[in-house]
Amino acid sequence: MLDKLPLKSIVEKKRTAIKLHLGGGTGFTTVHPFFVRKLVEKVKAAGARGVFVTDTPWAVFSAHERGYSSETIGCPLVAATGSADKYFYTKPIKPPFKALKEVELAGEIVDAEALLDVSHVKGHGACGFGGASKNLSMGCVSGRTRGVIHSLEGGLDWNRRKCTHCGKCVRNCPNKAMSFNQKRELNIFFHNCKLCQHCSLICPHKAIRILGGAYRDFQHGMALATAKVLEGFEKKHRLFINFLTNITVYCDCWGMSGPAIVPDIGILAGQDICAIEQASLDMIRTEDLIPGTLPKGWKLRGHGHLFARIHSKDPLVVLEFLEKLKQGSRKYKVTEVM
Ligand code: SF4
Ligand code: SF4
Repeated sequence: MLDKLPLKSIVEKKRTAIKLHLGGGTGFTTVHPFFVRKLVEKVKAAGARGVFVTDTPWAVFSAHERGYSSETIGCPLVAATGSADKYFYTKPIKPPFKALKEVELAGEIVDAEALLDVSHVKGHGACGFGGASKNLSMGCVSGRTRGVIHSLEGGLDWNRRKCTHCGKCVRNCPNKAMSFNQKRELNIFFHNCKLCQHCSLICPHKAIRILGGAYRDFQHGMALATAKVLEGFEKKHRLFINFLTNITVYCDCWGMSGPAIVPDIGILAGQDICAIEQASLDMIRTEDLIPGTLPKGWKLRGHGHLFARIHSKDPLVVLEFLEKLKQGSRKYKVTEVM
């Protein structure tokens, strides 16, 4: 596949960043170092003016525990925002979107001239799925910006004045997504929340409201950050590679691996992020769900994409925003390489 891509025109004489999600903890379903090394060799052979693999500092620090080191992958492993998470360039978001007024872009990414966005595609509790866009938006920014984007997660509104702290909502949440903190404020962990409405229906004082579509704000923030990352690279110097292997329910940032929920599909590559993400999602089909691979007690809900039925968040939303931000087109044609 790499031989069929215009790798030379993408990386030749360019300082090339390979953005990878290196995972954490005992996770072993990220992109295998073997594939990373093959890619690095090809990029070098294509004449890149230096190539490095990069991710957030905390992922880089522990990457050797999961088999990623300069010896195994064949090039330096660099913390995208520096080892202290202090190397970034601040770019404004115009107009601001809620709390997202600016993005602190990783210095090593901004300094690069060609970008290879290499992603493991899997489910994600807050946005349905993680792929090329999530790899950039959450992995090419400072920890502070990542926190601001996470703060956009939503879907429920809790009214403190109406709440009597009876605890019924917490006890009846089937997904253990709710808790009260020491200030007696209701915390909702949106990764676990399936927007099932049990809490809202059981609350005797109608203190919890479901906000239809509010979970989309997180995807909106992700799309805005992705666009900011991509702004720094001419389209001809971008490449997106999505691994549709070991497709798990949860994101790699959980620091663990679960079973694959569908059979391995393959690897997709292309220069349009929207097309790659759309094709990836189209190939992950509900009918291919392997029985018994969902976490205990979980079941598919509603309609739509498999990830929407697992996490109750439509994974296509981020692509709609990316298309609106003129980052590409969701139309695609697949050329199979055997
Ligand atoms: S909507 Fe459902 S999953 Fe979400 S917090 Fe309420 S009860 Fe829990
Ligand atoms: S069920 Fe309603 S009143 Fe009871 S703790 Fe939850 S939000 Fe508060």
